[in-house]
Amino acid sequence: MVSRVIPVDAFDLVIFGGTGDLARRKILPGLYRRFLAGQMPESSRIIGAARADLTDQGFRDMVAAAIDEFVPAERRDPVAIAGFLERIAFVSIDAVGDGGWAKLKGLMRENVVRAFYFSVAPSLFGDIAERLHTYEIADAWSRIVVEKPFGRDLASARALNGVLAKHFNETQIYRIDHYLGKETVQNLMAVRFANILFEPLWKSEYIDHVQITVAETVSVDGRGAYYDKSGAMRDMVQNHMMQLLCLIAMEPPYHFDPDAVRDEKLKVIRALEPVKPEDIVRGQYLAGGGEGGYVEHSENPASKTESYIGMKVNIANWRWKGTPFYLRTGKRMRARASEIAITFKEPPHSIFDDAPGWKENVLVIRLQPNEGMNLMMMIKEPGPGGMRLMQVPLDMSFADALGDEAEDVPDAYERLIMDVIRGNQTLFMRGDEVEAAWAWTDPIIEGWTARGDKPQGYDPGSSGPEDALMLMHRDGRRWREIKG
Ligand code: NAP
Repeated sequence: MVSRVIPVDAFDLVIFGGTGDLARRKILPGLYRRFLAGQMPESSRIIGAARADLTDQGFRDMVAAAIDEFVPAERRDPVAIAGFLERIAFVSIDAVGDGGWAKLKGLMRENVVRAFYFSVAPSLFGDIAERLHTYEIADAWSRIVVEKPFGRDLASARALNGVLAKHFNETQIYRIDHYLGKETVQNLMAVRFANILFEPLWKSEYIDHVQITVAETVSVDGRGAYYDKSGAMRDMVQNHMMQLLCLIAMEPPYHFDPDAVRDEKLKVIRALEPVKPEDIVRGQYLAGGGEGGYVEHSENPASKTESYIGMKVNIANWRWKGTPFYLRTGKRMRARASEIAITFKEPPHSIFDDAPGWKENVLVIRLQPNEGMNLMMMIKEPGPGGMRLMQVPLDMSFADALGDEAEDVPDAYERLIMDVIRGNQTLFMRGDEVEAAWAWTDPIIEGWTARGDKPQGYDPGSSGPEDALMLMHRDGRRWREIKG
């Protein structure tokens, strides 16, 4: 298959926080890969901005080092790197001061897309937005890109939306949730809405339950103090897992259009029922395997923050009444694995009386590792001995299905940045969506805080706390095995 790279318009992309971790690990290497793929027009430029006292050359050296560290050797072409670096400049700027802004204005060109990536702490968003306006650097066509966390509760999310809305329209604001840039996540929409096969069955009449798992093997060591203020609910459920749930649960949008898609996601979030305390299990990983436990890593022996959460979520609408969604995510788990599993109900009548071996059909969408899909089907077990059934997977690994082209698939950040330049907001969260997600999350967190609930310990390398197993067993169901 031939790779298709659709060119974008020429742009000036200013990265506030251009010297930070996210810029070095994701944004700049991602832009280099798009340059390598031929997607970055000749006259496009990337301007790093941070307080550091760097020259253009100093910043280019830093970008070259980042490419060296974060781009695989087979993609590091010295000629391409040199060409990419020529497009890079740096402005020393303080978000809360006045130095550097006039210089940045002088660098801006007419007739190219202007995008401003706020890869800095959210507390600086307001100051940067204000100065982009005061110094007339941003125009009515400019776009701003903001990173998570987008607030830590409804009040702070509203406040952030408010400071951005002072100078930018909603159509100019791109709130990144990098999960939405993942190939498989977008494939969810293709699978649901470009095939007739699943949609007629996509409802509580035929679906028993849905499991969404995001399991990580890493601990919070090194960023424990930061993580301790957040926890799994804020860090994963309110944003990434909520987005996955929305894509599974939403009604078909009338068109693959930013607001049509986001309207449907918003309806799902608004239909989420409050979660009962008995439907939530929180955990903290214990020490083990020569490593400290969560409380050591968070440097807070009394911490009640969860590094694991498992919960049962109900959606109060016609399509999903009676079909629970079980979500779980945790650190220091058995394997690094993210998947969505849709378990279908039994056929209404079995003609195979006592045939052993029957199991439910399950559609598994793997986000990592080995992105792809599996449809677990029943067939007859081969051989004599009467009608015995067995479950086999119809397995599609994207890497196998796409062959060489899979190599060229842009990663989530690359795709999302190019969407910003194209002006396509479909894969970005709208302000009302974020607020609705916090409005559902806040009472859950307030509930366990008021009760003083303490997370249950779980062994590192396990599948989470014991009580999480009970959450499913109680309903006559079980979690899928976490396999890397
Ligand atoms: P970081 O490594 O601490 O970098 C912060 C950047 O902001 C640096 O370039 C810093 O450079 C600049 N900065 C700080 N104060 C400034 C000021 N007053 N004026 C101008 N620039 C200033 O942070 P990060 O990890 O890159 O994260 C950036 C944002 O992305 C945060 O909101 C974070 O929550 C979010 N995020 C990060 C990741 C990740 O993987 N790192 C993932 C998701 C979201 P100077 O000190 O030279 O000014």
